[in-house]
Amino acid sequence: MASKIEQLHFLLVPLMSQSHIIPLTDFAKLLARRGVFVSIVTTPLNAIRYKGVIEHAKAQDLKIQMIPIKFPCQEVGLPEGCENLDALDSMGLAWKFFRACDMLQAPLEKLMEELEPKPSCIVSSIPIPWTEKVCRKFKIPRYNFETVSCFTLLCARNLSQVDQESILSDTEPFLLPDIPHKIEFTRAQLPTHRRPTGGSEEYEDQPIPAKVPARATLVNSFEELEPGYLDGYRKKEGKVWCIGPVSLCNKELPERSARGNKASIDEHYYLTWLESKKPKSVIFACFGSMCRISFRQLKEIGSGLEASNSPFIWIIRKQDYTAQVEEWLTEEGLEARVGKRGLIIRGWAPQILILSHPSVGGFLTHCGWNSTLEGICAGVPMITWPMFAEQFFNEKLIVNVLGIGVAIGVEGRMSFNGETEHLVRWDQVKRAVEKVMDVGSEESRTRRKRAEELAKMASNAVEEGGSSDMNFTMLIQDVLDQLQ
Ligand code: UDP
Repeated sequence: MASKIEQLHFLLVPLMSQSHIIPLTDFAKLLARRGVFVSIVTTPLNAIRYKGVIEHAKAQDLKIQMIPIKFPCQEVGLPEGCENLDALDSMGLAWKFFRACDMLQAPLEKLMEELEPKPSCIVSSIPIPWTEKVCRKFKIPRYNFETVSCFTLLCARNLSQVDQESILSDTEPFLLPDIPHKIEFTRAQLPTHRRPTGGSEEYEDQPIPAKVPARATLVNSFEELEPGYLDGYRKKEGKVWCIGPVSLCNKELPERSARGNKASIDEHYYLTWLESKKPKSVIFACFGSMCRISFRQLKEIGSGLEASNSPFIWIIRKQDYTAQVEEWLTEEGLEARVGKRGLIIRGWAPQILILSHPSVGGFLTHCGWNSTLEGICAGVPMITWPMFAEQFFNEKLIVNVLGIGVAIGVEGRMSFNGETEHLVRWDQVKRAVEKVMDVGSEESRTRRKRAEELAKMASNAVEEGGSSDMNFTMLIQDVLDQLQ
């Protein structure tokens, strides 16, 4: 099989968002470690952002390249430089962003004609649906890469069986049919699936859009994590392979610290700070790459962390970090009051590096799927604070199915740009941190033990002969079988 594998050329086309490019780049490294040649198509600014990751992979003799295609910002009226969902100031710009994504079809087709060796398949995620047409044109298979869990996929699918007419209000709980656990949702928690049409500037979350035909679906998850949901989804959708958690491919320090973006401060600073703390004592608070958090809400988070008495690392995204926030942190004295107990980062942090440090004992997360899975791999219990998209599904998985989380208590989704928010008060933050970091209670010990067991299962899944490793082999064999 080895020499045949070297004929393979996988073309990956991720949506230009951190939660897609990051796992697909990890996936690329896993493929390349098996001898496959991998090209990742993206835009010039994203290629610059990931330059370090690609260079590091090349230094390990992995055959990976990133191919930039010009992103038509001007043509759709997007400000120059808006090449990633995390760069959008308002989600009103999102429809333009997706229009620009759709315009990449023609340049990709041109690229396909020029690429050597010819691509054997395309792996893309659903928000880039036109890749299916490209595959048909070039007569190669497409594989769908899911950046959500099997739990979300099955729940979202079964939502269509719910009689919406019988639900009287957005806050009335209803049971989701035909899933292995008794799970309730409210309409206020559910993502909406609309994409803009006919030039409308209306836009809402778009987590699970309509299905696009694919030869098979690859899920960044592992079979042992959610077997009932994988089976349920497979029965309905056919070929589904769990190939994750892909983040576990990052074993060396440079891989862990430069993932997704350049970290705002040097990794040694984090490591020295973490080394000074007791094992499992630190709470890590990070809300992904896209959520907008208001100043009002940031103050509640900071005050809650301060009142909790646990050491903490708290990441404030660049977009939320204003002069007003800085004044509150410095002149009004939060940073001085917490002193060495707290590390507040303005910008981007090396999440998997921090999470995997033995001093970290809890994760306050917005429940993005990548973050959820990275928390599982680190074996830490989580405080769940879903904000939008499919994050409420992930909260149910973490808290109700896996039993490794404490819900902070958010009742409904906020809008993508933070205009509608459900304010979480400082005392809710404090209480949740105390609960998850508690070392005395039986409930807390059980949660932590379960989290550690799942981390072990995750690492077994990607080891040689593990379920995800074997699914990887099946994927490669499947592509080989179709070589013309
Ligand atoms: N991330 C990171 N540092 C940060 C913020 C985010 O490394 O400061 C990474 C995180 O590890 C994860 C991804 O960005 O891999 C975020 O993806 P997720 O699906 O959790 O959330 P989204 O960004 O889509 O809301």
